[in-house]
Amino acid sequence: MKTSMKLSKSGCLTIPKNMRVRLGWKTGMSLDISAATDGSLTIRKHAEICRFCGSTQNLVYYRDLCMCRNCTDSMLQAVKEGEI
Ligand SMILES: [Zn+2]
Repeated sequence: MKTSMKLSKSGCLTIPKNMRVRLGWKTGMSLDISAATDGSLTIRKHAEICRFCGSTQNLVYYRDLCMCRNCTDSMLQAVKEGEI
């Protein structure tokens, strides 16, 4: 599915309704946007990642902080050993 559109003066871009419906994207949902060096832009449904290592596996949450189990264990170990 491909279409061409113009960017507004303020940098806004409206994703066509048929694409939003196909992808299951709803108003207000969070999206992740990344720019590549080849000039392309990738927009994906937001995915939680570990704040420390970027992993998407075995995530746990503490207040507003998202981190993976490995980083949690490393942090606990550092606290036990008096490093932090
Ligand atoms: Zn991690």
